[in-house]
Amino acid sequence: MAATMMMALCRAREGAVLERRPSPTLAPGEARLRVLLAGVCRTDLYAANGVLPVAIGRVLGHEVVAEVMTSSRFAAGTRVTVHPWIGCARCAECQNGTECSSPRVLGVDADGAFAEELCIDDACLHQVPRELSLRRAAYIEPIAASMAVLRAPITRAQRGVVLGTGRIATLTTRILEHEGFDICQLATVATDAGAFDYVIETNERPIADAVALVKARGLVVLKSRPPASVPFDLATAVKKQLTFVAVAYAPFGDALALAPNLDLDDLLGDVYPLERFAVAFERANEVSSPKLFLEPKGG
Ligand SMILES: [Zn+2]
Ligand SMILES: [Zn+2]
Repeated sequence: MAATMMMALCRAREGAVLERRPSPTLAPGEARLRVLLAGVCRTDLYAANGVLPVAIGRVLGHEVVAEVMTSSRFAAGTRVTVHPWIGCARCAECQNGTECSSPRVLGVDADGAFAEELCIDDACLHQVPRELSLRRAAYIEPIAASMAVLRAPITRAQRGVVLGTGRIATLTTRILEHEGFDICQLATVATDAGAFDYVIETNERPIADAVALVKARGLVVLKSRPPASVPFDLATAVKKQLTFVAVAYAPFGDALALAPNLDLDDLLGDVYPLERFAVAFERANEVSSPKLFLEPKGG
C-alpha cells in the first residue's frame, strides 16, 4: 500500500511547525487512529518553546479523542481516547501488569496527537461513549490526571486545600467537591499557614507554600509535572514531619465515568483547525485561558 500523507504539528528548531509527512507506520501491538480533536496542554507549549527537551520533528500533543482505523482490541470506527503513557514492557511493573515506572510519553518521547493520524500501543486505548462531546472526550487525560488525587491517603473528614487558581487547580477542586471532600482553593499562603490536613500542589506556587499551608504531620500531594527541577525546602518539611505522596493518573475508566457529571463548560474553550495552531498556542499561554483544542481536518 502506498504511503498516504498527512499534516502534523512538530517540534521545530524554533517553536513548532506544520509539516506534510507520510502517515506513521504501524509497529507490532499498535493501533492506528484518526484524530478527531486534541487538547493543547502546557506540556505542548513547553515542548514548542524548548523549556521541555523534545526531539526536532517530534509530533506534539497527548490529549486526544480519535476514531479507530485498525486495532486488535476495538472495531474500526470506535471512538477512543488514549492514556499518553506508553509502557516500556521491560520494567518490573510492566512485567507484573501494573503501571509502567518509566513510560514513554505521547507527544514528548513518541509522536503525538497533533496530526491527522496517530499510531499508539493498543493497550493505551479507552473507548469513549458516543454521548460524550468531543471536547469532553479530548479532556479525559487532564480529568484522569486531576482525579489521581483520589489515590492519595486523604479522607472526607479532613480539611484540604488545592494550591492555585488555574484550570488544573479548579478542575481538581471540582472533582474533590463532587466526591464529597472538604476542599477549598487558595492562590497564596495568605493567613492560612498550618491550617490544612493536606495540600494539593499544582505547580502554580513553590513547594514551600504547600509546606507552609499544611499542618505539622500533614500530607502534601504532588501531582504536577514541571518541565525542570523545582527547589524544595527539606529542612522545614522534616521539622513538620510531613508526608509527601505523588500521584499520576486515576484509571481512565473512572475519568470517563465522571466526565459527564462534572461542571466543565467554563474550562473548555475554542476549537481551532490544526493550521491555526500558532493562534491557539498564543492564547493557551494566557494564564486565564480555557482548554483549547486543535482539529486536524479543520472542520
Ligand atoms: Zn496534558
Ligand atoms: Zn515499564
